[in-house]
Amino acid sequence: MTLPNPQAAADLAAQLKPLDLKGRIALIEATIPGRLVFTTSLGIEDQALTHALAMAKGRTEIVTLDTGRLYPETYDVWAETEAAYGIRIRAYAPERRSEEAFVRESGINGFRHSVEARQACCGFRKVEPLGRALDGAAGWLTGLRAGQSANRADTPLAEFDESRDLIKLNPLADWTREDVDRFVRDNYVPYNVLHDRGFPSIGCAPCTRAVRVGEPERAGRWWWEQESKKECGLHVHVPETDVAPGEEAAAFETTQSHRPEMAR
Ligand code: SF4
Repeated sequence: MTLPNPQAAADLAAQLKPLDLKGRIALIEATIPGRLVFTTSLGIEDQALTHALAMAKGRTEIVTLDTGRLYPETYDVWAETEAAYGIRIRAYAPERRSEEAFVRESGINGFRHSVEARQACCGFRKVEPLGRALDGAAGWLTGLRAGQSANRADTPLAEFDESRDLIKLNPLADWTREDVDRFVRDNYVPYNVLHDRGFPSIGCAPCTRAVRVGEPERAGRWWWEQESKKECGLHVHVPETDVAPGEEAAAFETTQSHRPEMAR
C-alpha cells in the first residue's frame, strides 16, 4: 500500500476478513507503512486488542484519551494492564485552557445542558486530543464492533478516513460480544470490573451508566439523548463500499447475554 485511499482500504478489508486477530495485526503492520496508532478506551474490546498487540510486540503505538472524567476503575485497569504486559499506554489529556473555559462558563457538568454543550465537552476532552494522538499517523486501529450499536452497524474491517487522510482499522469489527468475552477469558486479559456490574460500554463517569437486560450495549452512554446523536465525534463513519465482499452489517446487539461472569 502506498497512499491511503478508499480502494486500498477495501482491498485490505477483504484480505483481513479470513484471518484471526493475530493474523490481522500482522497483516496491518506489514501492509501500512508509517505510524500506526491504537486508541484504547480501556473497555473490554480494547483490552482484547491491547493483549493481541502486546503479544505481537509489533510497532503499533497504544495510546488513550484521558478525559479527566473517567471512572476510578478505568484508571485501575489502565495501571493493571501496563503492569501485566510491561507496556506504557501513552495518555493524551485535554488542553488546560479549553477545559478551564468550559467549566467556568458552563459548570463542571455543563455537558448536560444540551447536545451542543455535550459535544463541546467531548470536543475538547476527546476530539482535540485524538487529533494530536493521530498526528502523522498512516493507520488508526480501534476496537469498534459492528454489533455495538445501530450507529456502528456498518463498521468495516478497514476504511479510508478522508478527514484524517489515513486508513482506519477495526480488526474486531465482525466479532460478537461473546467472541470478545471468550478471548478475554481464555487469555486472562485484565478488564474493567465495571463490565461485571452491568456496564457493557464504559466512558466518562458522569456520562455512562449500567444498562438493563435487553437494552442495547450503548444505551448507558449519554442516555438522556436520542440514540442517533450518541457518538462523541471520535468515530464518524461514512458508509462506503468498503465492507469486505460477503460481509453483511450485523444488527446491533442487546445485552441479554452480555453479563458474562468472567474469571479474572
Ligand atoms: S463523555 Fe461526557 S464528560 Fe466525557 S467528554 Fe463527553 S460530555 Fe464530557
